[in-house]
Amino acid sequence: MKLLVVEDEIKLAEYLRKGLTGEGYTVDVSNDGLDGLHLAVEGSYDAIVLDRMLPGLDGMALLTALRSKKATPVLMLTAVTGVDDRVDGLKSGADDYLVKPFAFSELVARLGVITRRQNSGSGDNSEATKLALADLEVDLVRRKATRGGEILELTAKEFSLITLLLRRQGAVLSRALIAEQVWDMNFDSGTNVVEVAIRRLRTKLDVPFENPLLHTERGMGYVLEDRSIK
Ligand code: CA
Repeated sequence: MKLLVVEDEIKLAEYLRKGLTGEGYTVDVSNDGLDGLHLAVEGSYDAIVLDRMLPGLDGMALLTALRSKKATPVLMLTAVTGVDDRVDGLKSGADDYLVKPFAFSELVARLGVITRRQNSGSGDNSEATKLALADLEVDLVRRKATRGGEILELTAKEFSLITLLLRRQGAVLSRALIAEQVWDMNFDSGTNVVEVAIRRLRTKLDVPFENPLLHTERGMGYVLEDRSIK
C-alpha cells in the first residue's frame, strides 16, 4: 500500500514517514501544497494524508483540485477544530478528518478504514481505537461517545477532552495540561476555558447518570475514574 503524506511541519512529516513505514506502508512525503498536488495527480496512491494549512496551495484547495481528477481516499489533518471546518473538509471530498494533536494509533486505524485494508493482525489494535471506563465508551474511529449505551452529544472539544481523560484515567490532570493538550495553548490563569468545558462535559457525562466518573481534585485538577467500586 502506497501513501502520500502532504505536511509542511518537517518533524511531523518525518514522524509520519517513519511510523507509517513501520506499519508496512510505502510512504512519499511532500512539504508543499503545489508539489503535493502534482504528486497526488501523477502518482498512484492508496490514500493521502493531507494537512489543511500548507504553503504553496492550501490543503482544501489541493483537495478540490484533486477531486476533479481522482478519487484517491484522503484523510485530512488539521489544527482547526471547529465543526464548520470539519464539514467543509468532508464536503470538499475528504474521506475522513483528524484533529491535531492525534494519537498515531488513531491515524493508523482511520487509514485502515478509508483504504479498507484487511486487518492483518489478530484484532490487537481494536483496543487502541476504543476507550472505556465503567459504562462509558468512546469509539475513536467513529468519534462516538456513549454511556450506558446512550449517545453523548459532544462538541469536538468535549470529545478531545473526554478522550484525553480516558487515556489517562485514574490520573489527576492539571488545568494547564488540559489547556495545552486540548486547546493547544499555554495555560493562562486568567482564562477559565477549561473549567467551563469541564462543567459542560459533566452535565452531559455525569448529571443524567447515577455514578459520577469525572471528579474535581481541588487545587490540582480533574480525574476520570469509577469510584463506585472502591
Ligand atoms: Ca501545516
